[in-house]
Amino acid sequence: MADQRFGVVIIGAGIVGASIAYHLARSGRTDVVVLDKEAAAGMGSTAKAAGGIRAQFSSSINIELSRLSIEEFERFPQRMGVPVEFTQAGYLWMATTPDHLRLFEANAALQRRHGLQIEVLDRAGVAKKAPYVRSDDLLGGVFHGRDGYASPADYVMGYHKKAKELGVTFLFGEEVTGRDGCTVRTQTRSIAADHVVIAAGAYSGKLGEQLGFEIPVTPVRRQCFVTEPMPEFPHPIPMTVDYGTGVYMHTESGGLLIGKADKDEPPSFNEHVDHAFLEKVAELAMSRVPALENARIRTGWGGLYEVTPDNHPVLGP
Ligand SMILES: Cc1cc2nc3c(=O)[nH]c(=O)nc-3n(C[C@H](O)[C@H](O)[C@H](O)COP(=O)(O)OP(=O)(O)OC[C@H]3O[C@@H](n4cnc5c(N)ncnc54)[C@H](O)[C@@H]3O)c2cc1C
Repeated sequence: MADQRFGVVIIGAGIVGASIAYHLARSGRTDVVVLDKEAAAGMGSTAKAAGGIRAQFSSSINIELSRLSIEEFERFPQRMGVPVEFTQAGYLWMATTPDHLRLFEANAALQRRHGLQIEVLDRAGVAKKAPYVRSDDLLGGVFHGRDGYASPADYVMGYHKKAKELGVTFLFGEEVTGRDGCTVRTQTRSIAADHVVIAAGAYSGKLGEQLGFEIPVTPVRRQCFVTEPMPEFPHPIPMTVDYGTGVYMHTESGGLLIGKADKDEPPSFNEHVDHAFLEKVAELAMSRVPALENARIRTGWGGLYEVTPDNHPVLGP
């Protein structure tokens, strides 16, 4: 006999779990409990994200998901009555090789078929959008003005607050460790449910194993750092991505947030900062944005990215 019973148990109070909880409650389903092993909502990968929001993807599924998400991000303050930071300064991708430029053009054609207003730029066009980059080796780029970057904390707290107001229960410090049928167990209680939603981010694969499901999600470390304020810089800049090196940057607290996905990073739950890697990223960033030579790093962090075999979300029973 379970200690408690809910219609829906959601495991994970990150941006995904909190959003599912809110949308269920909004559609009238309030017999919902969200369990998270941490002490508050949004303390997993959501707290580590660079906040980039883009519809410029290379598959129709991701483009459509992101197009709808951007509409949600835009109407969030009105609908939720919660102030949020969403800098819709666009996403600028820059190419240094003909192959990359051709890829951008093919993606732009697909994205336009989904109604996105994509600008394909030559070198001068990129330099105009991003006068702070060294453009001598650039062949061109693509830009979408409705993309940008936001504060993940603002959005997760907004969903959490609204879901709670609508009647959803949140229980923190509750790590799900197993199940008996449709009853999930934490260290302190058991909860029976009609439906269980796994929204455990990078931990979903591991949790799936514990619950007896195969969920193809692998944790991989990603790292970012933020510079001290750069008052001379033309803030806010678009999310600026040097596609060849993978380095991206955007305005953050008056300075720049800079990151790069490391293709050689092995799957693991390691979240430590690798200073040698960040130094390499800083060099690549300085080579593209000369003004960074005078900037100082204020802070850096590592977090887990949830990687799936085809880089698409995993949905469904
Ligand atoms: C450095 C970095 C930069 C990133 N930049 C971007 C970006 O620019 N744009 C972008 O879109 N994405 C970015 N991401 C990815 C983004 O952070 C994630 O896609 C997103 O936060 C996933 O949200 P989530 O709710 O699925 O996972 P999480 O936020 O990790 O939430 C999952 C929750 O489940 C809980 N949990 C796990 N296991 C259990 C258990 N057994 N029992 C109970 N609770 C459990 C965790 O405590 C956690 O709170 C970045 C990630 C990193 C690390």
